[in-house]
Amino acid sequence: MVVKVGLIGYGTIGKRVADAVALQKDMQLVGVTGHSYDYKIEVAKKKGFRIFATDGMEDFIKNNIQPEGDINNLIEEVDVIVDCTPKKIGKENKDKYYLPKKIKAIFQGGEKPDVADASFVAQCNYNEALNKNYVRVVSCNTTGLCRTLYPINQRYGIDSVHATMVRRAVDPWDIYHGPVNAIVPVLELPSHHGPDAQTVLHDVNIFTTAMSVPTTLMHMHSLIVDMKKKATVEEILDMFRKTTRIRVVRNAEGVRSTAEVMEFAKDISRLRGDMPEICIWEEGVGVKDKKLFYLQAIHQESDVVPENIDAIRAVTGFKDGKKSIEITNKAMGINNF
Ligand code: NAD
Repeated sequence: MVVKVGLIGYGTIGKRVADAVALQKDMQLVGVTGHSYDYKIEVAKKKGFRIFATDGMEDFIKNNIQPEGDINNLIEEVDVIVDCTPKKIGKENKDKYYLPKKIKAIFQGGEKPDVADASFVAQCNYNEALNKNYVRVVSCNTTGLCRTLYPINQRYGIDSVHATMVRRAVDPWDIYHGPVNAIVPVLELPSHHGPDAQTVLHDVNIFTTAMSVPTTLMHMHSLIVDMKKKATVEEILDMFRKTTRIRVVRNAEGVRSTAEVMEFAKDISRLRGDMPEICIWEEGVGVKDKKLFYLQAIHQESDVVPENIDAIRAVTGFKDGKKSIEITNKAMGINNF
């Protein structure tokens, strides 16, 4: 069966999900929406993607792009929509289009959890999304927390987690926002990441704090996990190395920072220089009694992309989550180096 997919919101996440859908043998990218004319839509046209307009039809036509219709026309042709619009618009689109037209939809982490029937990280709770109508792929930070905490909880049990998110200020293309020269603490405790992680890891006791810093490349998390059972550093590293969509990187080979992680992604010829795996530093893992410490870097623009692909399979009835992850990883080259 080939699943017909429509992409709404062709921005940072949307353009990556569109490319990832186009790579899957069991999916067809029916089209993407343009909201206003810009270089991204020119690239979509060059890639041969069909373009539908949510707004600015005249502007498209003036620039020699003839949209094939509007959002309603796109929805009519697809089995599932992936909504990658900015936060709150996904919910508006659900009420305006997806519910009345009874079309399945995948939302992103900017939406509140109640937009969907399940929040989703494929390797943690694939089955919760199976055959659901609405699924929310959690944010980049929450995806990172869930991917690495899940195997710890499975193998050693977790009493509690304290995690601090050091967040990139903006995405690299964004010339409007900051901070440029400040460290901005999130003055809300816990930060929203902890409760968000619990929408996937329901029984994990986690408390989070966060701050934004002047960098665009990646987020960094510092985690302290109180485990129920003792483990050695080697056992923890071995577990991370064997877990999908995680990469253990090494200071010893010169990967000392987020800058070098991004350079490494370019060197292994990743599309757009993306690093969808969560990167954990080998030398940053420590154990004291049953307390585990580790540092991980999150490429915010790409870690949620494979999750969207698995979510499409889950909502359209593909039962084997492990197999879906394997297919997605192979098509996208995840964990291939
Ligand atoms: P973005 O601003 O880069 O892209 C959003 C796209 O939607 C733009 O192309 C914009 O033109 C289009 N758009 C705006 N209003 C629209 C409308 N009414 N109808 C259709 N299209 C519209 O945003 P993004 O960073 O890709 O974020 C999208 C979602 O993904 C948000 O929920 C966000 O929280 C989540 N997310 C973002 C990141 C990240 O770091 N960028 C990471 C994980 C999850």
